[in-house]
Amino acid sequence: MGRLVMKFGGTSVANIDRIRNVARHVKREVDAGHHVAVVVSAMAGKTNELVEWCRDASPMHDAREYDAIVASGEQVTSGLLAIVLQGMGIQARSWQGWQIPIRTSDAHASARILEIDGAEIISRFQDRQEVAVIAGFQGINPQTNRLTTLGRGGSDTSAVAIAAAIRADRCDIYTDVDGVYTTDPRVVPKARRLDKIAFEDMLELASQGAKVLQVRSVELGMVHNIPVFVRSSFDKPEDIDPHGTPPGTLICSEEEIMESHVVTGIAFSKDEAQISVRQIEDKPGVAAAIFGPLAEANINVDMIVQNVSEDGKTTDLTFTVPASDYNRARDTISSAKAKIGYARLDSATDVAKVSVIGSGMRSHAGVAAQAFTALAGRNINIRAITTSEIKFSVLIDAAYTELAVRTLHTLYGLDQA
Ligand code: ASP
Ligand code: MG
Repeated sequence: MGRLVMKFGGTSVANIDRIRNVARHVKREVDAGHHVAVVVSAMAGKTNELVEWCRDASPMHDAREYDAIVASGEQVTSGLLAIVLQGMGIQARSWQGWQIPIRTSDAHASARILEIDGAEIISRFQDRQEVAVIAGFQGINPQTNRLTTLGRGGSDTSAVAIAAAIRADRCDIYTDVDGVYTTDPRVVPKARRLDKIAFEDMLELASQGAKVLQVRSVELGMVHNIPVFVRSSFDKPEDIDPHGTPPGTLICSEEEIMESHVVTGIAFSKDEAQISVRQIEDKPGVAAAIFGPLAEANINVDMIVQNVSEDGKTTDLTFTVPASDYNRARDTISSAKAKIGYARLDSATDVAKVSVIGSGMRSHAGVAAQAFTALAGRNINIRAITTSEIKFSVLIDAAYTELAVRTLHTLYGLDQA
């Protein structure tokens, strides 16, 4: 017998029929003798609608009220699933974040989980075989007693955090894809599903644009060493052997992965914008003068490229920001112009970042060099490059994204036969 967290996303609970399907998945695991905590998202599209309502009510709305409103989607699905489970003769009870409680920071709309008390859930497993149906995405701040939410996609994080709190053997993320792929199969039909992927690689994939899981959830899995299994919720519950290994991807520690490629996967993001600050005086403190105000404005700067000036007088500095922060970033730099001292701002919004990820890169030289040659062969110009131990990224014209991803996918032997 084991202890399991089962998380179902918005498409898996999009209507009552699908909620019934979810209940049958839960029943299968309960019948197999497992203790089960289920974490649910809001019905597909519901959170978007609630966010829209907040904006309609007032563009400058209070973040505490935003949380009160958007947390309601998960409240509905947790109650509905508990009802359906009870109807199938399974002991079940719904839980809101505040009832458990899931204590979070007070950063409304992007709160971090601080602590979860799993005692009551565990004792109900033991005393009454009761399934806990937990509303994802939400918590409570203990100081203010107000509802909080964890940021979009936050139910993944709720699920892994619950798994850590109740010391689950595994956290199953049921979703509308059947696992983690080497890249987006819609772009590269030859993309392969990975049987296993290391936490670190998954963290990079998710951070660089793969949309399977919220980044925070992978981080939590890594910290608490909770194996996270990504699998499809559309497989027929009756067809699955609860003791066998269903199709899916296990995110686990590196030691558990025997065979590994140098490159694990390729991620891309078109939500990037490039800003180049031209002819800045080349003197101490300019980088601080540029990035200080951006940090204060809470703008995440990603790639940074600075030239070494030839004449020792002026230099150029290029960086990228999320496309959604582009206007704010430009304004921030413009208003600091006198302090920074530069000639001109250039920018581009039709750019994309393609990232190649693999913990195998640590022990292999020349991995990035191969990519540069391959991209040159396709006449794709690289605007900026960044590298880290297990990843490198190139910034290119957005129009070439698909071509670049396909080229690199083939280059690193990721295409399926
Ligand atoms: N319902 C929330 C959202 O759409 C949380 C989640 O689904 O993970 O962002
Ligand atoms: Mg999601």
